[in-house]
Amino acid sequence: MTHLWRGVIREYSDRLNVTDATPVVTLGEGGTPLIAAPALSRRTGANVFIKYEGMNPTGSFKDRGMTMAISKAVEHGAQAVICASTGNTSASAAAYAVQAGVTAAVLVPEGKIALGKLSQALAHNASLLQVQGNFDDCLDIARELSANYPVHLVNSVNPDRIEGQKTGAFEVVEQLGKAPDFHFIPVGNAGNYTAYHRGYKEFAESGISDRVPRMFGFQAEGSAPMVLGYPVKDPETIASAIRIGNPASWELALSARDDSKGYFGAISDAKILEAHRVLSAEVGVFAELASAAGVAGLLERAAAGEIPNGATVVITVTGHGLKDPQWALRNEEGGEAQPTVVAVDVAEVAAALKLVPTQGAE
Ligand SMILES: *Cc1c(COP(=O)(O)O)cnc(C)c1O
Repeated sequence: MTHLWRGVIREYSDRLNVTDATPVVTLGEGGTPLIAAPALSRRTGANVFIKYEGMNPTGSFKDRGMTMAISKAVEHGAQAVICASTGNTSASAAAYAVQAGVTAAVLVPEGKIALGKLSQALAHNASLLQVQGNFDDCLDIARELSANYPVHLVNSVNPDRIEGQKTGAFEVVEQLGKAPDFHFIPVGNAGNYTAYHRGYKEFAESGISDRVPRMFGFQAEGSAPMVLGYPVKDPETIASAIRIGNPASWELALSARDDSKGYFGAISDAKILEAHRVLSAEVGVFAELASAAGVAGLLERAAAGEIPNGATVVITVTGHGLKDPQWALRNEEGGEAQPTVVAVDVAEVAAALKLVPTQGAE
């Protein structure tokens, strides 16, 4: 082993706004695998890789930004942080706050976040409030509190978050040995879309890579403000992590799209579920629903003839499937998938598994 991974701040300190005076609050985030996805390559004719961000300490890419946001908050003397969240930001903020010894308050839309994320925030001792509104309402309140009370905002409107998250693109270039032709990614607040573009851009400008990939971002059909061109008042989708009607990084993301000859598309919930199944059953990667939106986007764009044969494609799979495992327990018709129950009996188990005895066996 050449070296042990030290978290994104120490690995990329020369490319982040940190000094010797910055306390590094880290849980060892980043260094996530880039996984070849032959099943997706076969389906699309492209050369497809998954950047599996579910492998971060709290199970989503949010940790890359949170290590920066909490470290900088502590550097500036903050003793309390606050965020609005569709779930993963609260899980991440709560964990990093514990590590830093500061308190975390999180605002989530009532009844709209996955159980795994809720339990993470509570396990890490955050003050969690369920607001009777949507994510956008939560963010409005968090912003106002941080302006008028001694709490530091760690949502992706905090520029340190996007800075930390750009390290995902650095890793892709290092793992692939080059920048891909296309990068596919789910879009909620559009912070991660913006961050990957920035990371790719910095590496291209430093001569480490020779291109900035075309950035293809995907929202859910019922919450697709960037595709529609205006905010959505009551966003709806089963993919709760991208159920956002008024993206905080809207303008930055539009410039990133224009700069990279990129694209924003909308994906139906049915297609998100289908891509989720392909990821689990054909690629071997267990993701949460929102994370499948980029995969669904690739399948859709490839079917539309928009992806040249042999193009190199990277898809960020943003969060772990264990956050919200219930979706895997549905069969294709929407019913509940029930494992078969058998007696303690070899013949019965063999029959249930449709096994045929090997030659010569009795
Ligand atoms: C936060 C999140 C997103 C959306 O990322 P944005 O930066 O808000 O666009 C997508 N998937 C998962 C799992 C997330 O937690």
